[in-house]
Amino acid sequence: MSAIRILPDNLVNKIAAGEVIERPASVVKELLENSIDAGAHRLRVEVEAGGKRLMRVSDDGCGMSHDDAVLAFERHATSKLRTPEDLLAIATLGFRGEALPSIASVSRVVLETRPAEAKVGTRVEIHGGKMLAVKEVGCAPGTQVEVRTLFTNVPARRKFLRSDTTELGHVASLVTHYALAHPEISFALQSGTHTILEAAPVVSLPERLYQVLGRALLDELVDIGQVRATLPATTPDTWFAPEAMEPEPPGEILARGFVSRPEVQKASSNTIYIFVNRRLVRDRILLNALREAYRHVLPGRAYPMALLFLELPAREVDVNVHPQKIEVRFRHQGFIYDFVQQAARQALAAARPLARFPTAQPERARTAAWAAPPASVPQAVRLESEAPPVEAFELEPARLPPRAQRLPFSAPAPVAASAAAAVLPTAAELAGLKPLGQVSNSFIVAVNESGLWLVDQHVAHERVLFEGHRRARQAGAVEGQRLLTPVLVELSPQQRVVWEQLQEELEANGFELDSIGARTVAVKAAPAGIAASGIERLLGEIFDTVEKEARQVSLQALQHQIAATVSCHAAIKVNMPLTPDKMQWLLGELGKTENPATCPHGRPIVLHYSLRDIQRAFQRI
Ligand code: ADP
Ligand code: MG
Repeated sequence: MSAIRILPDNLVNKIAAGEVIERPASVVKELLENSIDAGAHRLRVEVEAGGKRLMRVSDDGCGMSHDDAVLAFERHATSKLRTPEDLLAIATLGFRGEALPSIASVSRVVLETRPAEAKVGTRVEIHGGKMLAVKEVGCAPGTQVEVRTLFTNVPARRKFLRSDTTELGHVASLVTHYALAHPEISFALQSGTHTILEAAPVVSLPERLYQVLGRALLDELVDIGQVRATLPATTPDTWFAPEAMEPEPPGEILARGFVSRPEVQKASSNTIYIFVNRRLVRDRILLNALREAYRHVLPGRAYPMALLFLELPAREVDVNVHPQKIEVRFRHQGFIYDFVQQAARQALAAARPLARFPTAQPERARTAAWAAPPASVPQAVRLESEAPPVEAFELEPARLPPRAQRLPFSAPAPVAASAAAAVLPTAAELAGLKPLGQVSNSFIVAVNESGLWLVDQHVAHERVLFEGHRRARQAGAVEGQRLLTPVLVELSPQQRVVWEQLQEELEANGFELDSIGARTVAVKAAPAGIAASGIERLLGEIFDTVEKEARQVSLQALQHQIAATVSCHAAIKVNMPLTPDKMQWLLGELGKTENPATCPHGRPIVLHYSLRDIQRAFQRI
C-alpha cells in the first residue's frame, strides 16, 4: 500500500493557517486588506479579549453575491488574479486566495455580505472549516466578517497567544498603521466598550497622522515631502526569451512620509513603518537604508522613527515571497536602498539645527582628550577650572561615546591599565568627599582620602532620586505635586492600550490622571521635580518602554522602570553650573545611597583615581 497520501482540504487549510495566521492581529490584517481591496470607505474593527474571543470587521465595500460568498472560503479562490501574468503586477493587497479558508479552518466564522445592487444579502457560517449554513439575510451593503474563538481547534497555537493586552496592542498597532496608509478611509477600532481609535476621512497624510497619533508625535517628525526618482531601465535577459521581453519604459518611484528629528531616539525598530504601494512591509534593506541615514546622528544602539510610503509600478515589486505578504522583493534593490537613504538624509539635513550638535572635528578632539594617558588628566581638569575651555561641547547624556571610550583611566596604556577605572565604590568609600569644581559643568571633581573622584552629576542625582522614589513606593504611594493647570497628553492607540494597564501603578507613583475622550488624558499631578513641560515626554517614555517589553513586565520591573524614568527626568542635567553647596549636598546624598556605583540604567556614576594610582603615575612609588 502506498504511504503517501494527498491531504484533505481541511488539513491543507489548517497548515496554511499556520503560516498566515499567527495571532489575532494577523486575522485583522487579512480582513482589513480584503475590505480595502473591496473599495471600502468605512472600516470598523471590533475586538474582545484582544481578539482572542471575537474579531469583527465591517466595511461598506463592494460586497459579494451569494455564490461568491460561498466560493470565497474555497482554497485558492480569489477575484484578484486571472492569469499568470497578473502575478507580475499585483495591484491589490490580497491575491493568494487563502486568507478566508485559513481563518475559517481555525475558528468560527460568520460572514454577512451584500452588494449594493442586491436586494438581500448572504450569511455564511463556518466552524473549524466546516460549512454549517448558508442563508439569505437582510444586511447593509458591504461585508461583515465575525471571527470567534481563534485557534479553538488548535490548542498548541492557542497556548502561544499572549495576554489580552498584548494581543490588543498588536491589533491596535496594525489598525493604526493601515489607517495612516489610507487617510481617505474612515477607521474605527473598538475593544469591548472602549473606543481605541476613531478617524474620519481626511485628504492628507499629515492630517491623518495628527488625527491618529496626535500633535506630540507630529512634533518629533520631519516631513520628507515628495521625493521622486526615475528607476533604472531594465535590460531584457536576451538569453532567456528574447522575443518575450520588450524593453520597458523606466518607471518612477515616489517616497512620501515622515522620519524622526535627529534628537529622537527609539529603542527598537518597532517604530519604523514602511509601506510599499500602501502595503505594510518589513524589509531589511529599507530598514538598513533608514538606519544608515542616521548613522552619524544617532548612537549605534538607537533607532529612528519613520513612516515611509513608497510608491512604484507594481511590476517593480514582487509581493509574492511571503505567506503573510509582509516581505517584498524589489527589482532594483540597490537603487531603492540609495534612494530611501538619500530621501531620509535630505529631510534630516533640513531639520538639523547645526549649532546643537558637535561636528565631527570637536567630537574627535574631545575623545582624544579623554583617552589621553592619566598624567594629562589633572591638567585637563586644571584647564577647565581656571579658564573657560577652548571650545565648549554641549553634549547631552545620551550622546556620550560608548562606555569604553568614556573611561579615561582604563585606556590601554601600561600605566593606565593599573589605574582604577569605573570602580564599584561602597558608600563608605565616598565618605568625606570634598568638591573642587566641575568639568564642563557636568562632572564634579572631588577628593577625599582615597584619591580623586569624578562624578557624573546627572546620573548621581538620578540614583539619589531613584532610591528615594523606590523607598516611597514600597512604603505605600509616592506623593505627587499638583500642577497649576492640568497638562493634556495625547495618546496613540497603542499607548492608550498600555495606559489602561498602567493607570493604577502610575497613580501610586505620584501621577494623577483623568481620561478625557478616546485619545487624551489630563495630568493633574506629577512626582516632585517634574516640570509641567516635560510631562508629556516622560509619560511617552514610560509607555514606550512598557510597550517595548511586550507588555509582559512584572510589577517589580514596571515599578523599577517608572522610578528610573521619573528620576531621570527630575534629576539635574549635565551642562549645569552647580554651587559648591549644591555639589556638597549631592555628594553627601550619593554617599547615602545603597548603590552609588551605577545609575538605574546601568551607566557608571563615578570614576575613581586612587591615591596609589596617582603616586604610581608620578613614579613616586
Ligand atoms: P484574496 O484576498 O487573496 O483574494 P481571501 O481569501 O482573503 O483571498 O478572499 C477571497 C475572496 O473573497 C477575495 O478575492 C474577494 O473576492 C472576496 N472577499 C473577501 N473579503 C471581501 C470583502 N470584505 N468584500 C468583498 N469581497 C471580499
Ligand atoms: Mg485577502
